Amino acid sequence: MKNSKQFYINGGWVDPVAATDFDVINPSTEEAYAQISLGGEADTVAAIAAAKKAFKTWSLTSKQDRLVLMENILEVYKQRSDEMGETISREMGAPIDMSKMAQSGTGTAHVKAFINTLKSFEFERELRDNTPNDRIIYEPIGVCGLITPWNWPMNQIALKVMPALATGCTMVLKPSEQSPLSGMLFADILHQAGVPAGVFNLVNGDGPGVGTTLSGHKDVDMISFTGSTRAGTAITKNAADTLKRVSLELGGKGANIVFADAPENAVQQGAARCFNNTGQSCNAPTRMLVERSRYDEAVEQAKQQAEKTAVDVASKEGRHIGPLVNELQFEKVQGLIDVGIKEGAKLVAGGVGRPEGLNRGYFVRPTVFADCNNDMRIMREEIFGPVLSMMPFDSEDEAIAIANDTDYGLTNYVQTSDGEKANRVARKLRSGMVDMNGTARSSGSPFGGYKQSGNGREGGEWGMDEFLEVKAIGGWFSDAP
Ligand code: NAD
Repeated sequence: MKNSKQFYINGGWVDPVAATDFDVINPSTEEAYAQISLGGEADTVAAIAAAKKAFKTWSLTSKQDRLVLMENILEVYKQRSDEMGETISREMGAPIDMSKMAQSGTGTAHVKAFINTLKSFEFERELRDNTPNDRIIYEPIGVCGLITPWNWPMNQIALKVMPALATGCTMVLKPSEQSPLSGMLFADILHQAGVPAGVFNLVNGDGPGVGTTLSGHKDVDMISFTGSTRAGTAITKNAADTLKRVSLELGGKGANIVFADAPENAVQQGAARCFNNTGQSCNAPTRMLVERSRYDEAVEQAKQQAEKTAVDVASKEGRHIGPLVNELQFEKVQGLIDVGIKEGAKLVAGGVGRPEGLNRGYFVRPTVFADCNNDMRIMREEIFGPVLSMMPFDSEDEAIAIANDTDYGLTNYVQTSDGEKANRVARKLRSGMVDMNGTARSSGSPFGGYKQSGNGREGGEWGMDEFLEVKAIGGWFSDAP
């Protein structure tokens, strides 16, 4: 990457049509350390045109050709994985060790996973057994606009770019203007790996500018968006006139139901998971519901977990959490902690203000509220900071009702050693994902939400389906090639 103010269009780095400088801030220091340019309509239209032209040939490539390219991407990505970790750490504040392992590691994991999915994916199938004259063909949808957030930047980018490539689509990526440099590095990786000109394009910019041009443009066939529910709604409305497909991965307010018979470490793990990435994860378990007989002990355990969660600058090695991404998020999280106190929730750890010894940077104190009720704003709104809200429950039905009483439906969590109860509760939770007793879902499992958490599914064959049209053919000559 030669110049951070350029865009990657039609196989090369190009200057913006009209430069609009935008500072990239290191959230640990509050200082600008790089500048990008926010693109305008002309830049975006040029990228869309390049993608449209490239679609004519890229959509006709064989699965084998695409697999070879994806294997190349994996090799180059692995070589540059540490550089990716450093880039992400600096632009959005993830602690350096965590950034190299988890943030950058999601890129490697998703590239690998989509290689595996593509290997076994059948783009042509019989409708069902004994229907030789019915053919189902899956075809790439076309030019895709990919719009991503800053909180897990490479996770989101890889979850969109890789299935788009695998299915034969072409694309224009607009990474978050808050974390644009990881996206630019990824563009460089794709270039190095030999992605043909026009197949992948990147234009930096903001929502009202590049984002709106992408969602409204007639030559963009699909928008794949990850971000806030607010922006997801705006994109859906703007996309309506061109009736393009809109796939949305939005916010969450996950409930973590801790039954009395939960494993010993369930509360510590749940709190740690809430604080991970400084609480900036859509699937964070931010509402902890605890069976009453274990509630007092759980509040004490969560308090201890908050107090032992170190907060420090992102460049420091070791296990701690970093700052929030920017001033806006800092003010929002401080405001919601204040709201929690005013609403009468019991503050048992953390609170407003920066942690001791950190006077600069968007750092917040890991915070635990107890004795919440589900009408409080801290139980209903996505705070996107290291803030855990706890409340007791008396019965399984009550816990399920509280968990489901939310506008969101991304990930819920269940902690119990009773297998029958765990499965019964998992079936009743209205969310796209349920994690039980800390067991991670396997690679290739679909990621996505119900209700205002969106309508898309990323990962595995579901993540491929998002980028495909389905063609149904009758009268197929089964004995012809
Ligand atoms: P955001 O919605 O402000 O921005 C996300 C992206 O959308 C950015 O690239 C931004 O420039 C762009 N954008 C904003 N307004 C737009 C508009 N009107 N038209 C087109 N593009 C627009 O979100 P954020 O603050 O960057 O990210 C945090 C949000 O993302 C949280 O709500 C979080 O829960 C959500 N998120 C969801 C998932 C998921 O998979 N469900 C994963 C990660 C983050």
